[in-house]
Amino acid sequence: MIQLLSTDFDGTLVNHFEKPPVIPELFTLFRELQKAGVRWAVNTGRELAHITEGLVEFRFPVEPDFVLTSERDVFRKKPGGKGWEPFGDWNERCARAHDELFEKAEPLLKNILAFLANETHAQAIYDRDRPIGLVAQDETEMDRIVAFIETAREEQPLFSFQRNTQYLRFCHASYSKGAALGELGRLLGIEREEIFATGDHHNDIPMLDGVFARWVACPANSAEAVKETVRKAGGYIARGIASEGVVEALDYFLNGYGLAPKKRGLFGR
Ligand SMILES: [Mg+2]
Repeated sequence: MIQLLSTDFDGTLVNHFEKPPVIPELFTLFRELQKAGVRWAVNTGRELAHITEGLVEFRFPVEPDFVLTSERDVFRKKPGGKGWEPFGDWNERCARAHDELFEKAEPLLKNILAFLANETHAQAIYDRDRPIGLVAQDETEMDRIVAFIETAREEQPLFSFQRNTQYLRFCHASYSKGAALGELGRLLGIEREEIFATGDHHNDIPMLDGVFARWVACPANSAEAVKETVRKAGGYIARGIASEGVVEALDYFLNGYGLAPKKRGLFGR
């Protein structure tokens, strides 16, 4: 049985180009699943404040039990249900690993920043003095930047990145949406065989390759590399866009594979 859902937000639950951006059936299904004891984590590249805003902006009538943010941090609902708190010491360990990494990788970062300034129209993104990522003009330019970073990082294999549309975030190679999901499963005592994950872009690949979640899916609007990953992991590539695709994929696994919580029939079956 599926016990934990890990869903990306933008492009997976929310279709920014459609009205409504999220189909009501998704809300109904998630509410039913939560009632049946299934836990739901939004696993996003957004930072904590930004995902909190997103849930309000798109009028989610259901609330996730966990938010995994910035492709690495793990938060759970505060006791009483208002606001979020770090779950375990993962976020602290993650922050320390990144402090060390950024110190060691200073020459590499300088090299990347020089490439951005001289060879692209991309802008570096800073958090205080630290360059934490970049925004490219478009995905074609991003392909070129990623190729440069892949070569430049050969001597610093712990220095990695998460790519999402025209955005890219530098990170420690041990931290990703997949690693964060693995930690959440460990904290909850939920096994890989009980976890469903879905996402649409490059930064979702680490949670869709079958390592941390047995049941993986992507909506039709996903990047080709994501579809390839899901295909290889034996997952489901939906015909529907964003939330339509997520509902379709959950129907496929919950009903098709008999993975639904036994308490109630979902989709009226
Ligand atoms: Mg996305």
